[in-house]
Amino acid sequence: MSKNTSYDFLIIGGGTAGCVLAGRLTEDPTTSVLLIEAGRSDLHPFIHVPAGFAKLTTGPYQWGFTSAPQRSCGNRVIALPQGKVIGGGGSINAQVFTRGTPSDYDNWEKAYGAKGWSFADIQKYFLISEDNPRLSAPYHGTGGPMGISDIADPHPLSEAFVRSGQEWGLPYNSDFNGETQYGTGYYQTTTKNGRRCSTAIGYLNPARKRPNLTVLTGHLVSRIMLDGKRAVGVETLHKGTAEQFQATREVILSASAFVSPKILQLSGIGDPADLKPLGIDVKHSLVGVGKNLHDHCDLDIVYELHKYQSMDRLEKVRPATAVAGLQYLAFRSGPLASTVVEAGAFTRSSSDVSEPDLQFHFLPAAGVEAGIEAVRPGFGATLNTYMVRPLSRGTVKAASTDPTVQPIIDPNFLADDYDVEISAAAVKQCREIMAQQSMTKHVKKEHLAGQSDLRTKDDYIKFVKAYGRTSYHPVGSCAMGTTDQSVVDADLRVHGMEGLRVIDASIMPSIVSSNTQAPTVMIAEKAVDLIRGRERVA
Ligand SMILES: Cc1cc2nc3c(=O)[nH]c(=O)nc-3n(C[C@H](O)[C@H](O)[C@H](O)COP(=O)(O)OP(=O)(O)OC[C@H]3O[C@@H](n4cnc5c(N)ncnc54)[C@H](O)[C@@H]3O)c2cc1C
Repeated sequence: MSKNTSYDFLIIGGGTAGCVLAGRLTEDPTTSVLLIEAGRSDLHPFIHVPAGFAKLTTGPYQWGFTSAPQRSCGNRVIALPQGKVIGGGGSINAQVFTRGTPSDYDNWEKAYGAKGWSFADIQKYFLISEDNPRLSAPYHGTGGPMGISDIADPHPLSEAFVRSGQEWGLPYNSDFNGETQYGTGYYQTTTKNGRRCSTAIGYLNPARKRPNLTVLTGHLVSRIMLDGKRAVGVETLHKGTAEQFQATREVILSASAFVSPKILQLSGIGDPADLKPLGIDVKHSLVGVGKNLHDHCDLDIVYELHKYQSMDRLEKVRPATAVAGLQYLAFRSGPLASTVVEAGAFTRSSSDVSEPDLQFHFLPAAGVEAGIEAVRPGFGATLNTYMVRPLSRGTVKAASTDPTVQPIIDPNFLADDYDVEISAAAVKQCREIMAQQSMTKHVKKEHLAGQSDLRTKDDYIKFVKAYGRTSYHPVGSCAMGTTDQSVVDADLRVHGMEGLRVIDASIMPSIVSSNTQAPTVMIAEKAVDLIRGRERVA
């Protein structure tokens, strides 16, 4: 039997946005969709057990991307883990559920010309996506595909962190997605019944039985096929063989902020100055492709603890691992049901700032993520922080016409002095919060990654430049709007092209003041209405 190669919609990338789109577009039985993912299926248990996050920033479910040497960070090459699996980042992420502030979205409209993306316009898409068992209108939704949960049984160290935040002067906040972000408390997480709820679980799996949906894994999209200015199909590499698929309506690029611009460039769409040196024929000149890349620059302080109380026990003490495993299997509870990143805070770097500009994540464990120091021997905890509205901007450029070669990714961390200044203030606040009595009784030693102490502003700046890293939130490289750097219009159509949209985190013209998964889900939900030409009601 010959294989069908023609579909209404081809979706490139089965990640956070791609799975929302595949699930929603196939609700209409007359619409056929092919979802094409380069990575594997999401069957591995580490993906579904919430604490499995600790195993996923290295290994086969991420791309192994690295940055170009970072000029403002001592020319360091920084690891940039990103999901390479059905569910994308949502299958390997820390499951923190936050969505920024209304002003983030209002600014997309005001500063970038993204008409229809003010908070008043987009809030309903957050609500449509959400299934929140504790919270409801006006800030939350119930009955949507994304399962959201409270941390069922916070770790005693997470509780100590939240108390320390209050001792430092923060109010307790029971909902970081409610009236205000400001304060300290526990994150809600994208989990349901003790399991991770990626968009692959929430949106794609319920759609899999539909005859109008086809999902391919292990297919690396190498380029978009064009007929003049119209996208008509894609070419993939599968086990070393090129295959082609045709789109009768649209090609949708949802391959992430690092890869969507690269695929445009390999297809001849981009800044001629980037394409010509690689010998790529310029089919459509669009200078913004791959510009405006940015990310939150994360900073971590690891704390060595007096006692064996942190989640490190699960790695180091065999009976603890066995008990946790049995508890999880029997009841879906206990430490393995924890996402590890349980508690946090949003604060202001100074009293002059009207909205929180710093975010904190507390982990009752150390060495959880790629490149972060573990405490050996002994047991640790980690507090990380970033400034939420960085000004530094970088680039993504195809490095070769070979689609298997990673692009040159330059987040340009800390290039702007403002980012350095506020990041230094963030590290200082970390230390102040951790110096409150609820935490100090647990802490034996602060590990400042090689530095003995941080006293002066210069010490803090040195620390920030020496240890700043990705928070895994790349955005902006196919920005939406009407500026000379924008790549897509407010309907997410590539400027000057037909039958081609970009729908993923790359379209955010400026990063939201929080983690980025829920905003990406919102983008894909709104895009479904833009494609269908009619709006749903929340
Ligand atoms: C380790 C980690 C931790 C994070 N923690 C959090 C968190 O706690 N909370 C939060 O809100 N956000 C978090 N994020 C960020 C969040 O997951 C991302 O913002 C979100 O997944 C972005 O969605 P996307 O659809 O743009 O890209 P992705 O989800 O990355 O999806 C892109 C998909 O395209 C596929 N792809 C790429 N190239 C090709 C190609 N050539 N051909 C075919 N397929 C291709 C990829 O394999 C991937 O599946 C984290 C991310 C990571 C990586």
